[in-house]
Amino acid sequence: MSITPAKFPELIHAIATSINEHADAITELDQAIGDGDHVFNLQRGIEALQSHSAEIAGLDWTAAWQKIGMTVMAAIGGASGSLYATLFISLNKNSKDKPADLATFAEAFQLGIEAVKQRGKADVGEKTMLDVLVPVANALKQDVTEGKPLTDILDHICQVAEAGVESTREMLATKGRASFLGERSKGHIDAGAKTAQLMIAAIAEVLK
Ligand code: ADP
Ligand code: MG
Repeated sequence: MSITPAKFPELIHAIATSINEHADAITELDQAIGDGDHVFNLQRGIEALQSHSAEIAGLDWTAAWQKIGMTVMAAIGGASGSLYATLFISLNKNSKDKPADLATFAEAFQLGIEAVKQRGKADVGEKTMLDVLVPVANALKQDVTEGKPLTDILDHICQVAEAGVESTREMLATKGRASFLGERSKGHIDAGAKTAQLMIAAIAEVLK
């Protein structure tokens, strides 16, 4: 399967729709253990991407990652903005001069998540978006290596993402604002993990 940004307008529309539908629930999650602004941060980034979506769709895919990263960086304040910008800029770096296919993407995505870990000095088990993104990156890499059909891969990563969200519930937050709550951070799922899962599900729905 060849990858191009031609589907970007459809993908970003699906992401916007899902995040907007779940906005109140996400805010409730972020108010419980964060400062409540996570969904607004994401919505600002998504709106900025939508306003550039025709331009992004016309770029080659490595240039598209760079444009997406710079747009997100400029539009989103908060931890999540710089972390997602890091992912996209790393995707640009790691897809340069490589075939525009799923194998390159899976490899670049895993390296991108490594860059996010370094940027935020965080890892799996700290009650963040990484509890979704790391297992998804690993499942994607493994499934692509095994040559599984795309629809099976998409179903699988959606399940892995949901399990990742649920895994954050009883975790103690040690990174980000939720860490200020200590033990009281337990018992709530992480807002950033939830939005990562919603975005992955929206993308998978379009690609299926
Ligand atoms: P802020 O925490 O600056 O208000 P947001 O509210 O937009 O930023 O994003 C909060 C989300 O960012 C958290 O729910 C968590 O998933 C994620 N997050 C926070 N810090 C880190 C980190 N160091 N590494 C990975 N993800 C993080
Ligand atoms: Mg916040």
